[in-house]
Amino acid sequence: MSAEVLDGRAIAAALRERVAAVVARRVAAGNPAPGLATVLVGDDPASHVYVANKRKACAEAGIRSIHHELRGDVPERELLDLVATLDRDTEVDGILVQMPLPDHIDQDLVLAEISAGKDVDGLTPVNAGHLAQGRIGVREALDLESGDPLVGLVPCTPAGVIEILDRSGVELAGANAVVIGRSILVGRPMASLLVNADATVTVCHSRTRDLAEVCRRADVLIAAVGRPEMVGGDWVKPGATVIDVGMNRTDEGLVGDVDYAAAAEVAARITPVPGGVGPMTIAMLLANTVRASR
Ligand code: NAP
Repeated sequence: MSAEVLDGRAIAAALRERVAAVVARRVAAGNPAPGLATVLVGDDPASHVYVANKRKACAEAGIRSIHHELRGDVPERELLDLVATLDRDTEVDGILVQMPLPDHIDQDLVLAEISAGKDVDGLTPVNAGHLAQGRIGVREALDLESGDPLVGLVPCTPAGVIEILDRSGVELAGANAVVIGRSILVGRPMASLLVNADATVTVCHSRTRDLAEVCRRADVLIAAVGRPEMVGGDWVKPGATVIDVGMNRTDEGLVGDVDYAAAAEVAARITPVPGGVGPMTIAMLLANTVRASR
């Protein structure tokens, strides 16, 4: 068997087109374009590339971007004051503080300055709480215009995974889903979204026993670990859907958490790295900015 390749680039491009169309319609009706504030602290080259890509994608979708760069040794107070100012600014619909932050800055204090309604990364306790309490299903996570704007914003990467599964017609209700990873950014919100979509969910982490055996029971297997090609072909149930969130830079280039060639022999569907989940994250950031501007 050779798996169907789930094309994240194409699904992300379609979502970005839908976002651009919503923005264009709103502007044509006399409303201001949505505005996303990005805050970058320090000179980590990867973070600079990520933020530049996000701002470019905003421009292509007609979203205004407001950018602030601070030195790596900026006092914590200065960053908190900037975020608080952006939070009060009525021209700013969404705020993205690029992580990771330098060690002397407490990420939780920074997030505490962002209102849930501007939290386009979905990382504040209020948004995480809405998701954990089951108020955000697939429709609420993916709709651009309808739905209750007070219901919350979902972290971009897991929302992107749900969009891939939804667009690819993967049945989640009643499915056994296994998520490897329990981070606040990916694993936990991913598990909540799957529970809210009526899957039976197992969350694995570094203390999980018999990880391969647990993975072999998965109809939907989601790897968000950060270990190159850890998930072998013999971890995959025949006919499963395998979603590889991992982005690991190695001497051979960017590789995922799944041994792609081996897993593709067994799975029914699989996302590649690159070209799978990665492009969805930026597309979802644009979608969340449009949602935040409702
Ligand atoms: P993270 O915060 O480092 O979390 C990794 C998780 O994997 C933790 O829960 C950890 O368990 C678990 N883990 C580590 N080693 C393990 C092992 N040997 N067996 C089982 N579980 C293990 O990473 P993250 O931010 O969630 O990101 C995960 C991966 O996704 C990374 O490769 C990252 O680059 C990628 N990523 C991609 C995108 C995208 O846009 N495609 C976005 C975000 C992240 P413990 O909790 O027990 O430590």
